[in-house]
Amino acid sequence: MTDARASQDMQPAPGYRARILLVDDDEHNLFAMEKVLEDLGDVVAARSGEEALKQLLRHDFAVILLDVLMPGIDGYDTARLIRSRERSRHVPIIFLTAVNKDDVHMLRGYAMGAVDYVYKPVEPLILRSKVSVFVDLFRKTQEVGRKAEQEQRLLEENFRVRTEKLLAEQALRASEQRQALIIQSLPIALYAGEVGRERGAPQFMSDNIHVLCGFTAQQFLQSRDLWSERIHPEDRERILQAFARMPETGGHAVEYRWRCADGEYRFFLDHAVVVRDEHGTPREIFGTLLDVTERKRLEQQLVQAQKMDAIGKLTGGIAHDFNNMLTVVIGSLDRLRRAPQSDPKVVKRIDLALEGAMRCSDLTRQLLAFARRQPLQPKPIDLNDLVAGVTDMVRRVLGDGIELVLDPGEKLWMAQTDPTQIESALLNLVVNARDAMPEGGRLTVMTRNLVLRESEAAQLGFATGEYVTLTVADTGVGIAPEFRDRVFEPFFTTKQPGQGTGLGLSIIYGFVKQSGGHIRLDSELGRGTTFSIYLPRAPETVMRERLAAAEEGRVLRAQDGEIVLAVEDDDAVRQIAADALAELGYKVIEASNGPAALELLAGAARIDLLFTDLAMPGGMNGHELAAKALMRRPGLKVLLTSAYTDRFAGGPAPRASLRFLNKPYRERELAAAVRDALDEVR
Ligand code: ADP
Ligand code: MG
Repeated sequence: MTDARASQDMQPAPGYRARILLVDDDEHNLFAMEKVLEDLGDVVAARSGEEALKQLLRHDFAVILLDVLMPGIDGYDTARLIRSRERSRHVPIIFLTAVNKDDVHMLRGYAMGAVDYVYKPVEPLILRSKVSVFVDLFRKTQEVGRKAEQEQRLLEENFRVRTEKLLAEQALRASEQRQALIIQSLPIALYAGEVGRERGAPQFMSDNIHVLCGFTAQQFLQSRDLWSERIHPEDRERILQAFARMPETGGHAVEYRWRCADGEYRFFLDHAVVVRDEHGTPREIFGTLLDVTERKRLEQQLVQAQKMDAIGKLTGGIAHDFNNMLTVVIGSLDRLRRAPQSDPKVVKRIDLALEGAMRCSDLTRQLLAFARRQPLQPKPIDLNDLVAGVTDMVRRVLGDGIELVLDPGEKLWMAQTDPTQIESALLNLVVNARDAMPEGGRLTVMTRNLVLRESEAAQLGFATGEYVTLTVADTGVGIAPEFRDRVFEPFFTTKQPGQGTGLGLSIIYGFVKQSGGHIRLDSELGRGTTFSIYLPRAPETVMRERLAAAEEGRVLRAQDGEIVLAVEDDDAVRQIAADALAELGYKVIEASNGPAALELLAGAARIDLLFTDLAMPGGMNGHELAAKALMRRPGLKVLLTSAYTDRFAGGPAPRASLRFLNKPYRERELAAAVRDALDEVR
């Protein structure tokens, strides 16, 4: 095999040549052999065994040609040393020898590691062919080694790449699982759909949509109208249009009501974006659905609270002026009534007018209660008495077409409640019932004692305990299920403008809750509606009418010429009060504001009572006036009055014990309050 062929077969690395080590002490031999071998490989010449060993430390050789006879270490010793070294152990050695052709000698050479012998004088052809065999072998071995190495490298590379791929896949799967987990556990559903697809029906829906709305992702994909059909009718057009406009808008965030699998509407926040292809053409819509019902509810509550606050301020203001005017009206009527005159017809008229004025006064109180500006005045009430008291009015309200059935409970307990409020609640329920029975029907008013035990109470969501119930049942049109919660909302009404305010039930609800009671609604469409008010049973000990009885026969006139300083900015109201007090025998000094009153107080020798309005213009309110007056005259008696029913509306009171009289008041009430203050009756 020639060198050229070998290199062709084995394709050694370009520039790569095998090394041949020539060891001979004879320069001529070296030179001659070098010439013969130089085209087979790089010939390295060494002139002694030591030099050869040195070269072997530096390079790898394909073959060593070793002269046997050399000064210093001879060929055999050199061979032994070569064999003893790890690096050169397997390098083939060819001995060069001129002598020692005998077998013993040759065997020694083989024993020392020779693979062949070449005899001197060297025959170039034989030398060449022997050396080329080893050079070839070396090359092939090298090549095989390199290939193996390459293969190993390839294998390793392959393995590395595969491991990396595996790890990447694992990481991807882990992250996919994580994402899926996140998507599933968030209260957000993801969806995707084609742009322009009819009614925005999704083509992908994340599984957790089920948690949001009770339908599975599968159901959404199968029934393409599911999503659009369940949008609240009032929202549908707006939402479908928003989706239709998406290619232009590029995305949107919209809120709408959606009817879930349980039939309830929930608020969804739908956030969607358009995804375009590389040409900028809108292709897909990606979006998220978030349940914002709770947030909406809070928002609505806030709006409601603000609305109530505004109404409260408004009604508070109106009630104030009303109460002042009513004080004048009632005071004047009281006086007229007492005037000596015989015509009983006139007296009757005056009584009617008084009754009307008192109703107005009740109404303002209710307005204030509705606006939560007034604490309730709960006391023990017999609901049967109360119902009996308004039966005539109820009949009038119902008219001819409706039958009234009264079903009073026996041995009814006292209910702890505000009588004015419960009366107006009853009338409100009756009016609602009448409106629900335009074709006529039957209205039942029922009262009962009721003990709510654990299980029942839990079922209703009420507290356990003893209640007195007032039930108003009609045989009217009923209330649709979706309205049953809403009827208690303020301003919720199904009536024509001008016929309903939507306030009735919300006022009742607020009052009942404030009383520590409950209200319950049962209704069936087309059959009728029943409202039940649960009022807490009153504590037994309180005696009814105790105060009223004590009042009777009491002398309410002035004693010993007592002097009252009356302070009031409204001239008409002050006039009425002063006249009434004078009528009762008091000496009255009048002032229209705080500073003027203080001046009078400083100048007067005797003043027994300061009777002052709370809210007055001019920088000093009734509380401040009372505080200053009490500093000057510690023993002074004080009676405060106000058209606001909240006695602390004008700021903190100097003494919580100061007496207070609501406007408007009857003459008798004024007389009693003044007497109480002067006598310090508790
Ligand atoms: P308004 O009577 O001014 O509408 P309410 O708060 O008293 O306000 O009542 C709210 C709504 O509740 C009514 O508009 C009506 O739709 C419904 N409603 C109340 N009571 C009844 C009833 N007895 N039967 C049927 N619907 C009723
Ligand atoms: Mg009503």
